[in-house]
Amino acid sequence: MSETQMPTARTRVVREADRGVYDRETVHRILDEGFLCHAGFVVNGQPFVIPTSYGRKDASLYIHGSAASRMLRQMKEGISVCITVTLLDGLVLARSVFNHSMNYRSVVILGKATLVDDPKEKLAALRILSEHILPGRWDDARQPNERELKQTSVLRVPIEEFSAKVRVGPPIDDEEDYSLPTWAGVVPLEMVAGKPIDDARLLPGIESPEYSRHYTRKR
Ligand SMILES: Cc1cc2nc3c(=O)[nH]c(=O)nc-3n(C[C@H](O)[C@H](O)[C@H](O)COP(=O)(O)OP(=O)(O)OC[C@H]3O[C@@H](n4cnc5c(N)ncnc54)[C@H](O)[C@@H]3O)c2cc1C
Repeated sequence: MSETQMPTARTRVVREADRGVYDRETVHRILDEGFLCHAGFVVNGQPFVIPTSYGRKDASLYIHGSAASRMLRQMKEGISVCITVTLLDGLVLARSVFNHSMNYRSVVILGKATLVDDPKEKLAALRILSEHILPGRWDDARQPNERELKQTSVLRVPIEEFSAKVRVGPPIDDEEDYSLPTWAGVVPLEMVAGKPIDDARLLPGIESPEYSRHYTRKR
């Protein structure tokens, strides 16, 4: 299948257009490092933007949740969605308030969500979601039973119409402001996992697994 040429009229970054990135590899890398997305959709003219977890396999993004949730109920009817993922890399402190910024990598995907109802594909998608968030956990935990699967909806959003936007580097000040005696630079930010906390009802002798002790999003 030939791939849609990016950007489309809807995914072309307008402001700071040089920060727009449209190659699939960059988009997949950002999606694989992130694990929270915001899913935007419109119901009766009212936009809703709901944070949720996701997983990716090839050119498919999966989201899941209670079959009763409005987000999943609406989306499975095939309405248009906008999925965004944002990685925040730093605060960019300029000499002027106006030129302050942030370093980031973000992705926007436009498309239509469809319900994954084939039981095999649904289970595979749930595994992808689980492994995306915490590789190794799926095989350690009890697998979902029939009742749990029934209560869970899984939706697939094709990664076909997309854009990324990436800002890196120092502040960009107005030339005359470089002579000001104001500190300027970047405060790097990253998500760091804390030490795992044992559940109070843990069976004796059970240790926290390696993947929980060294959790990172960097791949
Ligand atoms: C952490 C963070 C902080 C930001 N802070 C600000 C801020 O304070 N003020 C501000 O004006 N902008 C901010 N931005 C940038 C903002 O996301 C938009 O890029 C900006 O509003 C310009 O949009 P536009 O008019 O070019 O495009 P729009 O017309 O809004 O969008 C056109 C298309 O461009 C693509 N696109 C636009 N923005 C992004 C993006 N960030 N990532 C991927 N694709 C994108 C989408 O496909 C979209 O459909 C921030 C971004 C991030 C990630």
